[in-house]
Amino acid sequence: MAGTARTQVILICSECKEQNYFTDKNKKLHPDRMEVKKYCPTCKKTTVHREKK
Ligand SMILES: [Zn+2]
Repeated sequence: MAGTARTQVILICSECKEQNYFTDKNKKLHPDRMEVKKYCPTCKKTTVHREKK
C-alpha cells in the first residue's frame, strides 16, 4: 500500500510537557523533529509543541 511511510507522532507542549496532540507525518517529507505552534489547554495559550521521540 502507498502511504505506509507515515508514522504516528505525539506532540508535547514545550512548556508544560503535556501530551496534547496525536498526529502522523511522512518521514520522507519531515525527517527532522516537528515543531508546531498549537493551543495548549493546560497553559491556556498557544505554545510550541514538539514531537516526542
Ligand atoms: Zn502547555
